[in-house]
Amino acid sequence: MSLIVVGSMAFDAIETPFGKSDKIIGGAATYIAWSASNFTKPIRQISVVGGDFPKEELDILEERGVDLEGVQIKKDEKSFFWSGKYHMDMNTRDTLETQLNVLGTFEPFVPDSFQDSDFLILGNLSPAVQLSVIDQLKERPKLVVLDTMNFWMEVALEDLKKVLLKVDVLLVNDSEARELSHEFSLVKAARKIMTMGPKYIIIKKGEHGALLFHEDNVFFAPALPLEEVFDPTGAGDTFAGGFMGHIARTKDISFENMKTAIIVGSAMASFCVEKFGTQRLREITKEDIDKRLMQFQELVNFEIELV
Ligand code: AMP
Repeated sequence: MSLIVVGSMAFDAIETPFGKSDKIIGGAATYIAWSASNFTKPIRQISVVGGDFPKEELDILEERGVDLEGVQIKKDEKSFFWSGKYHMDMNTRDTLETQLNVLGTFEPFVPDSFQDSDFLILGNLSPAVQLSVIDQLKERPKLVVLDTMNFWMEVALEDLKKVLLKVDVLLVNDSEARELSHEFSLVKAARKIMTMGPKYIIIKKGEHGALLFHEDNVFFAPALPLEEVFDPTGAGDTFAGGFMGHIARTKDISFENMKTAIIVGSAMASFCVEKFGTQRLREITKEDIDKRLMQFQELVNFEIELV
């Protein structure tokens, strides 16, 4: 099933308590594509990069079934750059620098060949760009999922509210859900955000798992307790890619299937954090993914006798 992925493709520089990376490949759409391409093809990528973005990186994605017709290459400009530093808990981080570069003037273009796509995931990007992609699609995809972050709540809240009215599923982390809703309780936050447009809210809580809300239903997916967490960058996007990849593979947008999808997302995110950047996602095989899904099943499977 065809899936459109929209988002940043970037250079990142990351500092964690355990080490520091040089400028490495990152970006929300990069992580989503690496993750989702394990489950579904074609992936139709919409993004923008500068002339400094390595051609080999684009080639590897193409080999994985990612169609790059919607990726603009601005030869004389620089790619988006982000740098961040993680705190000792590895769950929270500070953005040290955001250089929008090509993203600052990005006008997305949906190629004709992308028009019949079944699913759409709008990864982290300016809400105006996310909205423009929705508006360019002649037919609404079966499911529209949106990821965003506090940065956009602070600089483009009105645009974000407009795009929220047009999406089915919102993915945010716990602090972003609180910021958007002005509610501390995540249950109240999800309920309030559901009045802003999306019918499903997924709240990611880093090493504490993820919650899925829909009407009065709630489901929880744990994160796998890992011995070593090296770099959480991109874990949210990798989660999103696993979630959307599973939905696209199964073509089932029911709440029941979304429960499985957030387990798949959590499993993919658990790989992402094991090495810097996209490194681990480049190594894993179908067998690794299956094995990890089994670990998740064991983690939450228990029997109980009612008293
Ligand atoms: P995550 O850790 O899942 O929140 O995603 C981190 C990725 O998001 C990094 O690879 C960054 O390049 C990218 N990113 C950070 N800030 C922004 C932003 N304001 N817009 C788009 N992408 C961003």
